[in-house]
Amino acid sequence: MWDVIIVGAGAAGMSAGMYTSRRALSTLILSTDLGGQAAMTDWIENYPGVVGKTHGVAIMGNFRKQYEEFGGKMRFEEVKKIEKAGDDFNVITPQSEEQARAVILAFGLSPCELKVPGEERLKGKGVTYCATCDGPLYNGKVVGVVGSISEALDAAEYLSKICPKVYLFPQRDKLLGSAVLNEKVKGIANIEIVWNKKITEVAGEDKAKSVKWADIATNEVGETPLEGLFVEIGYIAKTDWVKDFVELDAKRQIKVDKENRTNVPGVYAAGDITDVDYKQVVVSAGEGAKAALEVYKYLQVKAGKPGVLTPDWGGV
Ligand SMILES: Cc1cc2nc3c(=O)[nH]c(=O)nc-3n(C[C@H](O)[C@H](O)[C@H](O)COP(=O)(O)OP(=O)(O)OC[C@H]3O[C@@H](n4cnc5c(N)ncnc54)[C@H](O)[C@@H]3O)c2cc1C
Repeated sequence: MWDVIIVGAGAAGMSAGMYTSRRALSTLILSTDLGGQAAMTDWIENYPGVVGKTHGVAIMGNFRKQYEEFGGKMRFEEVKKIEKAGDDFNVITPQSEEQARAVILAFGLSPCELKVPGEERLKGKGVTYCATCDGPLYNGKVVGVVGSISEALDAAEYLSKICPKVYLFPQRDKLLGSAVLNEKVKGIANIEIVWNKKITEVAGEDKAKSVKWADIATNEVGETPLEGLFVEIGYIAKTDWVKDFVELDAKRQIKVDKENRTNVPGVYAAGDITDVDYKQVVVSAGEGAKAALEVYKYLQVKAGKPGVLTPDWGGV
């Protein structure tokens, strides 16, 4: 039995884990990856105390180092279900079932999918959602980027430096990045913008070999051969698997009060997955720390001890 299980190893989950571990709570983080969205960004230059442009992967690597130095444990497993077991919780992944006295939900936002035939089957076999993470695997290959927002344009610009040809499918007749970025991308010789075509299928047997599309205005159909497809169409709260467990808001984010409590006693939430405004690394890290301290207080009270927090640095 763990004192606390944290779902997600992004800024919120890692920061929460640091704080629970420092409070000597036995802590397990279960996550599908390390670093979450922060690790998918090229550069972060607004995280306080980190001067200059620093790669998100490097920052999140430091989060992990700090967390593990305080004794926290982590495994890469996707949590599929959480059940109440008396006052405690069963946290279930395809690989394991763990028990905890408290849970912190910090599973952030996930990349939106195209929801077209072939996408699911070819994930990791040509279909990817992170140019920063997976771009180097496509060095020298012909690739496509789907999306019109700045993330898509950044991805296309980056890939144009390592790939001979980049097809950009904005799926509309304009780009939605900043004026400067839009013009920059339009001016790159090896980026071909395929205007107004909706992707209808990713084709290929065991790896992607082309995308099929239909013109939004004329319904004309066509196919573009490529070896990698980067889907950059935004992020959503994938909370379907907890919708019957904790209360969600209209945007399907987890509702929390100012103590990071959900409607289920013992279950806390932090970061982008919650209804807290401002989705930023520093906000997630702060919310994770708050949730952790509230979990500590909750477990103290449950154990019949005073629910009063001394500062985390050990003062009175
Ligand atoms: C392209 C881009 C650029 C950005 N640039 C900046 C920037 O410059 N500065 C800034 O401050 N913010 C930036 N942000 C926002 C910032 O990255 C996020 O607000 C922050 O990282 C969110 O952290 P989080 O821990 O709340 O969630 P996430 O980072 O989304 O982490 C969630 C974690 O949960 C895991 N997970 C999801 N589902 C499950 C499950 N079922 N079981 C187990 N694990 C699960 C994920 O794998 C991930 O590790 C950017 C975001 C993007 C997408």
